[in-house]
Amino acid sequence: MPARLFRSAKADRNRFIALYVSMAVGLLVAAGLFVYEAKIIVADGLRDEEAFSVLGAANRVLHDLENAETGQRGYLLTGDESYLVPYRQGVHDLDDTILRLQQAAGSDEKSLELVRRVEHAKTNKVTELARTIELARSGNRAGAIALVQTNEGKLYMDGLREDLNLLLNNWRDRRKAATQDAHRRLVFGSAALVAIAVLVCCLMVYTVYIQRRAFARVHAYSNALDQQAAHDTLTGLPNRRRLLSAIDELSGHAAGSRRTALLYLDIDGFKNVNDAMGHSAGDVLLRRLAESLRAVTRHDDMLARVGGDEFVLLADDCGDDSQLRELAERLVSSVRAVGEREYGGRFAIGVSIGIATFPDRVPSIAGLLDVADAAMYAAKRSGRSTYSFGASTAAGVSNVIRMTR
Ligand code: GH3
Ligand code: MG
Repeated sequence: MPARLFRSAKADRNRFIALYVSMAVGLLVAAGLFVYEAKIIVADGLRDEEAFSVLGAANRVLHDLENAETGQRGYLLTGDESYLVPYRQGVHDLDDTILRLQQAAGSDEKSLELVRRVEHAKTNKVTELARTIELARSGNRAGAIALVQTNEGKLYMDGLREDLNLLLNNWRDRRKAATQDAHRRLVFGSAALVAIAVLVCCLMVYTVYIQRRAFARVHAYSNALDQQAAHDTLTGLPNRRRLLSAIDELSGHAAGSRRTALLYLDIDGFKNVNDAMGHSAGDVLLRRLAESLRAVTRHDDMLARVGGDEFVLLADDCGDDSQLRELAERLVSSVRAVGEREYGGRFAIGVSIGIATFPDRVPSIAGLLDVADAAMYAAKRSGRSTYSFGASTAAGVSNVIRMTR
């Protein structure tokens, strides 16, 4: 793995760790925040319920007292005993209602003080009511009415109403504060949730981006490795391995209708260049030869370098023999031209070519290479810088060569 790719993979890994840690921290902070806010919102709800029961009990005290007073007034005015029913009911309920109010007020000192005062006023008021009823029942209705007219009962009721109002206002304020606090926290929690969701989404998108970039790098690197494994580093042409896999592919797809040719080329007199000019001069010549051969062949045909000065042209759908002869002659001329051009024409460079064709001369695509190789040697033997056709008599028996020049 090249150092640059290794460094970027390491940087990507560190980025991934940082992103995942940020997401985990973000989610944990969000969870903590929500648990905290939820607890406070629940407490706000309880405070609201508490305030609601204080308000209910306070209103009930007033309601019970008014019932008792209405009954008393009715009895004093009419002497009708049935008015004493709401009076007694109101007085009877008052004790329970005051107790409920006390419990609802909880441990709040200010509220308990107000409840004590309300209870005191209530006791006075109930005593005053009882006294007037007693007087009336003993036949002294005028005395009872005179007692009512002293406004003593009204004063108790005014004081009681004032204290109840203070209590009601106090708990209404508390209820409002609890509701507002819960509302504010819900709004804040929702905004924080949206912000964290957006943040996590952004981090995820960034993670996907980095992941794709890392995959693309690995993909490019693996393509480069494939390319290297399948290509000759000197000429850039496909190598023997790539050629063999192309032959394999063709064997798999060969429908039998298309004619395929394989031309095996070995440069004549190449070693002389190496010996006289050095190996690197030979390399330069090999590159020139590769370029020149590539230039005179079809782009779709595969030109591979399969050995030192050996090349193979695999031509699918190659046409008839006359086209192949033309092609072979073109190849011979192009190699000769390179020899004449390079090193002032000091070296007589040529090429011997063996040609095998499927399916007419060789019954299997896989047999083409061996038959063409053998035909190339036949071309060498027959004088070099020429070509020769090879054939096999049966599939898999490629060593049986018949020369057809
Ligand atoms: P012939 O005419 O019989 O084909 O002989 P030749 O001189 O072309 O030599 P031959 O084909 O027998 O051998 C090819 C030589 O090419 C052998 C080796 O020293 C040389 N060679 C192989 N690979 C390379 C290479 O990558 N670079 C260079 N410069 N020379 C190579
Ligand atoms: Mg050679």
